[in-house]
Amino acid sequence: MVPEATFGHGRALRIETEWRGENGPLAVTVALAGGEPWTCLDREIVDRRYDSADRERRLKERVRLGVQRVLEREFNLAASPWGILLGVRPMKVTHTLLDRGFSSDEVRDLLEGVYGVAPDKIGLMLEVAAKQRPLFHPEPNDPVSVYLGIPFCPTRCSYCSFASYPIDSHGHLMAGFLAALQAEIRAVGALLRETGIQVESIYFGGGTPTTVQGAALAELLALVNAELRTEHTVEFTVEAGRPETLSPDTLRSLKAAGVNRISINPQSMHDETLQAIGRQHTVDQVRTAFWQARKEGIEGINMDIILGLPGEEPSHVEQTLEEIAALGPDNLTVHSLALKRASRLKRDTSYLQLAQAHGEAMAALASDYAQQMGMEPYYLYRQRYILGHLENVGYARPGFECIYNIQMMEERQTTIALGGGGITKLVNPDLTLIRVVNAKCPATYARQIETDLPAKIDQIRKHLLV
Ligand code: SF4
Repeated sequence: MVPEATFGHGRALRIETEWRGENGPLAVTVALAGGEPWTCLDREIVDRRYDSADRERRLKERVRLGVQRVLEREFNLAASPWGILLGVRPMKVTHTLLDRGFSSDEVRDLLEGVYGVAPDKIGLMLEVAAKQRPLFHPEPNDPVSVYLGIPFCPTRCSYCSFASYPIDSHGHLMAGFLAALQAEIRAVGALLRETGIQVESIYFGGGTPTTVQGAALAELLALVNAELRTEHTVEFTVEAGRPETLSPDTLRSLKAAGVNRISINPQSMHDETLQAIGRQHTVDQVRTAFWQARKEGIEGINMDIILGLPGEEPSHVEQTLEEIAALGPDNLTVHSLALKRASRLKRDTSYLQLAQAHGEAMAALASDYAQQMGMEPYYLYRQRYILGHLENVGYARPGFECIYNIQMMEERQTTIALGGGGITKLVNPDLTLIRVVNAKCPATYARQIETDLPAKIDQIRKHLLV
């Protein structure tokens, strides 16, 4: 029996759980005073493929679904298509069930019955799982992935909640930041040589890494190649993000350094929207950067868009997708607007109703266009406060799936993160995580590197050598 809880409307919520005998089944009742109870008798959880931790988890999951269903019914709330999978990484449940040996059909039934997920989202998850699973490794700590965070941008977008400092006001911190980053790259490089651990993918994010330009960029890329690239490194991504940072020289430097994947992120192909969300560039600059990157021979180009930007209706999104289809990128990443606490846009919610009403239609358009471009979904995640219970989906032409995105999102591979705001995730064999966080602020990062780096390297070394 769970203690009774009382919610705002003054009606008590009663929750009863009971394991009937040592080997189940599990009976759960959830009822709001005066309302119809929700009941469930779970016989499936006695399956021998589950362990005791799974059974503990199932009890909580049944209660969560029961509470959700009772509240939906009593207060006339629309059901979330994601059921109780409201966290950032809904794919983890799917993978855990597949790990346990359940077939796709069994997983489909469980996602619907236990987690309350809508059939179209289940189809999406199974499609994504089929793409991801061949890329998982039996061991989480060899190979690893490496992330480098450059926390500078040309301007700060109104929806941004990342580590990002405008170059105009914070550019004077760049030299000190880069010196600290070089020290961290050398220390991690030495550790990789000492342990013999392989790096599968290298990912420059931020921020906008291509705010580092000219000789400084070439020097940084050369150092990464010398220290962090190993025999089995197959992917080197630079999140170029803002097209105004992509001069022909910059693109040539990336290509010469062996970068084989970049992002050029329009977010919208409407100049008015770009202005409204605080981006400095134009649609024309997106096109120019894209063709220049193709000319330089960069193999994989990703483009990010955001659904639900201020003033945008499905017709705007369709035009954006038309323009992107005409360019023909290799990846399309479709974000649904999420109003995070740290973003400026959070303060202006007047346009939200429009975005909520059209969210599904916009997501369907993006999925159709991705399909027309020969792409399939290969990773997905959700965010808190995301538009209309939607999700973010990465689409790729076959063979262009971003390995780093998959490994980072599913947390089955250790990621060593360097630079501003980098979060190292050390993955244990049971897939639990230890996080080691770098300072976001470039000045703090540069100041702390000397004192903090030895302990960080020591912690990673101990983890890798266990
Ligand atoms: S480009 Fe990305 S990291 Fe930079 S301000 Fe915009 S959203 Fe933030």
